[in-house]
Amino acid sequence: MRLILLGPPGAGKGTQATFICRRFGIPQISTGDMLRAAVKAGTPLGLEAKKVMDSGALVGDDIIIGLVKERITQPDCANGFLFDGFPRTYIQAYILEGLMLKLHTSLNCLISLSVPEEESVRRLMNRGMTSGRSDDNESVIRNRLKEYNQKTLPVLQFYRDKGIYVEVDGTVGIEAVHRKITEIIRNELGKRLFNVVLFGYPGSGRGSQGKALARKFGLEYVATGAMLEEEIKSATETGKRITALYDEGQLVPDEIVVQLIEKKLATSKDVKGFIFKGFPRTLVQSYILDGLLQKHGSAISQIVEIEVPTLELIRRLDERSKTAGCMPYDTSTSKIVKRLHEHETKTVPVIAKYNQLHGVLKIDGVGTFDEVFARIATGIEEGFKSMR
Ligand code: AMP
Repeated sequence: MRLILLGPPGAGKGTQATFICRRFGIPQISTGDMLRAAVKAGTPLGLEAKKVMDSGALVGDDIIIGLVKERITQPDCANGFLFDGFPRTYIQAYILEGLMLKLHTSLNCLISLSVPEEESVRRLMNRGMTSGRSDDNESVIRNRLKEYNQKTLPVLQFYRDKGIYVEVDGTVGIEAVHRKITEIIRNELGKRLFNVVLFGYPGSGRGSQGKALARKFGLEYVATGAMLEEEIKSATETGKRITALYDEGQLVPDEIVVQLIEKKLATSKDVKGFIFKGFPRTLVQSYILDGLLQKHGSAISQIVEIEVPTLELIRRLDERSKTAGCMPYDTSTSKIVKRLHEHETKTVPVIAKYNQLHGVLKIDGVGTFDEVFARIATGIEEGFKSMR
């Protein structure tokens, strides 16, 4: 969650920001607090900022950008943050866009707390009696409000134009504002896609489990092997290219698989997310998947590996080779061994990489279909909950 909380001085940004950050586990980035800390520490930046702050004017964009840039690249900001009191000028809004782009991410929404001017003044005069803030006195308050109207209102328009602006009435009481903001954030979280990557050796049951999981969780099932088969069957241009490659004994290049996945991502509407089976198969494909999801403002949410002992895999694949629904790649022992070997040499390193980066949920794949399904579904349900 990458959020901005704005509002005129006295709107209650600080109170609400603390609450949101605690509730959603994201750090609060208050440029005002950072400046006050610099003033207190007596750093050169603090000394420069103090004079401006005491007059109620806005501190220069260059100082603010320096502070923010440093802060958002720290590790605790990796999963999101809340800006409180930033961006306050049009220039800062543009620069923030640039910073987000550089970090390959984007903002989810700007929440604007609206409070009438006289109410702001009344609240700040009250706060001035106890806050000890040198800028909480009437003439400075009036100047801060003037700065807000002149310089920060255009920022609100900037985000309105981007379509990520939400206004909340800041006069309805702290609790009611909390509730409204929580609802907005929950709604935002609900828009995020939940993407699962399902791993397992051939014969581990990935295919049948993947399809059933997709149905249960409202996810789109993306199985690249089946997608390639489908192209061949429908004799599309891509299908003909694939057939020619197969006939020459060549592998299907990543470029074809990527195009098929892209098409699937772009045409799947109203899904809660995707479940990938048989992709990524190699380290190169794992980078491709990151890129594809990022292009759609999304990312991998959960990685599952179904574990089945090798002898059991061979037994299952051998049995499958004798059935009518047998896949062309399951017809002989040498083909089965080749597939297991491919998985071991190319895909196991991908799982190891993910294990280091995100953690992989390992599921015992021995048992009936329903038993294994229940184990995976419980894991996915927890992942779903923690994301929302
Ligand atoms: P605040 O605590 O957000 O009310 O900020 C107090 C004072 O710090 C403001 O009146 C400004 O002088 C300065 N300040 C805080 N954030 C910014 C910002 N993003 N841009 C410029 N000045 C800021």
